[in-house]
Amino acid sequence: MPFWKPLKNRVQTELIKRGYCVGCARSLSEAERQPYPGDEDKELVTCSCRRVFVYDKRLNTYRRAEFDEVRK
Ligand SMILES: [Zn+2]
Repeated sequence: MPFWKPLKNRVQTELIKRGYCVGCARSLSEAERQPYPGDEDKELVTCSCRRVFVYDKRLNTYRRAEFDEVRK
């Protein structure tokens, strides 16, 4: 039962910023982290539902990873 069901993209973005996965609502602080290629101030964060986010260490915020950021 997704609590964000009636919400729109803007609200999803806000959830992500605060560190919650929009797919499963888990806290991204518990997700798997990898170094972001070419940028030490960021981390790639993979949720257990396989959605990928980018964490910005300086801003302490998350965003959805772009398609080309996920590809290896
Ligand atoms: Zn998730």
